Amino acid sequence: MDVALAREWMRATAAAVAAGADRLTRLDAAIGDGDHGVNLNRGFTAVVAALDQEAPPTVGEVLAKAGSTLMSRVGGASGPLYGSALRAAGRALPQTSAVRPDELVAALRAGLDAVRKLGGAAPGDKTMIDAYAPALDAFEQAVAAGAGLAQAAAAAARAATAGAEATVPMRARKGRASYLGERSVGHQDPGATSASLMFQALSDVSQ
Ligand code: ADP
Ligand code: MG
Ligand code: MG
Repeated sequence: MDVALAREWMRATAAAVAAGADRLTRLDAAIGDGDHGVNLNRGFTAVVAALDQEAPPTVGEVLAKAGSTLMSRVGGASGPLYGSALRAAGRALPQTSAVRPDELVAALRAGLDAVRKLGGAAPGDKTMIDAYAPALDAFEQAVAAGAGLAQAAAAAARAATAGAEATVPMRARKGRASYLGERSVGHQDPGATSASLMFQALSDVSQ
């Protein structure tokens, strides 16, 4: 991945979030407060504007800039969580204009660790982690098997989508949805759904 592709990834995520905002908000209305689409759309619109205003010279700085922008512009739980993930991922990369797939694996792992540390959620708690973690595992396995970015990102996107769908029967144990207890069962988690959009965007720009 080079700087141009990193920027494209953020742009494609912003486009996917804009296109999916109504769906994300509907999902959040069912088990939360109905603002997830609005929150992320506002955040990623600001990310695109920030990246237009200044062109960071390394992949790591692109991701870190996106992360800091989300942290400062999104009020909901998802802003700090996605923000810290992207910031940690960006900081974990070697500060070069292009990074290898295995370096991206390590960076995305640092991002997931940041989400887990900040939010205290584990796999199975019905959060964004339930899409992010399996996507990262699939990405890592594909890269370890010698796949290039395009193939590994496609595998990650498939795993993220499956992971998001697998949140439907889960009972939420973190975030607002956890206040509903048993009534959170039967609904797809909005954050897991937006995480799948991010991995789909990575796959789309990598093909
Ligand atoms: P808020 O709940 O503050 O309105 P959003 O609606 O933007 O924020 O985001 C809700 C999503 O954030 C949830 O669907 C879930 O995936 C994710 N989330 C909430 N709390 C946590 C947490 N502690 N760890 C990981 N993800 C979380
Ligand atoms: Mg919400
Ligand atoms: Mg909210």
